Amino acid sequence: MDGARPAERRSARIRGALNPARWTLWRQRRSLVFYCFLVESVALVATVRTAAAVPVRTWDLAVFGILAGLGVLQAELGRQVERVRRLVSDTPHINLTSVWTFAGVLLLPPALVTALIAVLYAHLATRSLARIKRVPPFRTTLNATLVVVTCYAAAFVLHRLGVPDMYTALTAGWRGVTAIALAAAVYFLVAAITILPALTITTRSVKAFFGGLGDNLLEVATLCLGLLTALTLATLPALAVAIVPPLLVLHRAVLIKQLEIAATTDEKTGLFNTTGWHLLASRELARAQRSTRSTFGVLMIDLDHFKLINDEHGHLAGDAVLRAVAATIKSAVRDYDSVGRFGGEEFVVLLPDIGPAAVLAVAERIRSAIETLKVEYSDGTASRVIADLSASIGVATYPDGGTAVDRLLQAADQALYRAKDAGRNQVVDGTAPA
Ligand code: GH3
Ligand code: MG
Ligand code: MG
Repeated sequence: MDGARPAERRSARIRGALNPARWTLWRQRRSLVFYCFLVESVALVATVRTAAAVPVRTWDLAVFGILAGLGVLQAELGRQVERVRRLVSDTPHINLTSVWTFAGVLLLPPALVTALIAVLYAHLATRSLARIKRVPPFRTTLNATLVVVTCYAAAFVLHRLGVPDMYTALTAGWRGVTAIALAAAVYFLVAAITILPALTITTRSVKAFFGGLGDNLLEVATLCLGLLTALTLATLPALAVAIVPPLLVLHRAVLIKQLEIAATTDEKTGLFNTTGWHLLASRELARAQRSTRSTFGVLMIDLDHFKLINDEHGHLAGDAVLRAVAATIKSAVRDYDSVGRFGGEEFVVLLPDIGPAAVLAVAERIRSAIETLKVEYSDGTASRVIADLSASIGVATYPDGGTAVDRLLQAADQALYRAKDAGRNQVVDGTAPA
């Protein structure tokens, strides 16, 4: 019986996908629906037109088979890693599939590249990703068609430069090298730009999308491996399988980086968690100890009567307040100051390279920003506003307030309690004698 359930659910899903009236696409914003149709039309027209115009040789079909086979093999071997990665991170961007699709651009007639993308994404959707995190079919279709459009842009560059594929590039000297480098650059840019409308009109922020240098470096690495795959297939095809092991290692490297981020981040607010904040604070302490004149500050911030907010508005509204306070603190400090949440409604700030007077000024700025903060939330029926927030802040400065991280935190914590005792909504300096 148990075995029948997933099968039933799967067939219900397939029936849903085949019935346009039940598509989740219609529940999306109109601009996203429009964008899906636009991208799909462009991909379709480009594919149909080139399918008729560019002949397909038997060798092309063989290369198509090899790329599809290697792509499926890599996805199958990487399933375990991908499962863990998706659990710790929702970064959509990691897509090692471009190794195969970019190699396809460099080797195959464009219409066969579309077929390759269809095979690889259909495999991803039905096999590896389906059991990890359900993605609505319209998103998979949009992602796949965006890749088609990206591949056509890169193929167009090759075509215009008179180096239509890797085979021609092998005999074209520097012209071939330049054409392939430009095609890779266009692939990178078009992939990034075409996904933007889909992100801004859904939930993810543009900044979260562009991510760090690391994400972009990964995209560059996959394009490089795609290039090497194409080069191998055009010269010694049997060696192309050698691309798979480094690709699996690359996949693991991504996972390690994301585990590292997850291990040092507070999920609720996106701030550092205790571990992450302590790591940075120890590094800052070591740096300050190397120079005799360096100082830094530590702030311990605790919301006043936060329990009452939870009691009156509910836990979810309380969480919204925590996120708003986190954002407020972050915007009140410099980029290289580190803000953490030590659980509950207790925040800590590390302020490198700053003297005692300036530390107090920053604390005061945070206190007054929280005092004027208004947090909007919906109680299910109406939108409501929480105002009248306040926080008490304890301050300690290195070296006068302590010469170890724990000692500084203790001094800041004691100051925080004095601020609470003295009536809350105030800053107390733990470095000065009580
Ligand atoms: P005080 O001014 O003395 O700090 O009073 P307080 O009510 O803020 O202090 P107390 O430490 O007694 O209460 C903190 C409350 O924070 C208790 C707990 O319900 C709530 N809390 C802790 N973590 C979370 C969380 O992640 N989300 C929400 N919504 N509430 C939390
Ligand atoms: Mg409190
Ligand atoms: Mg507390």
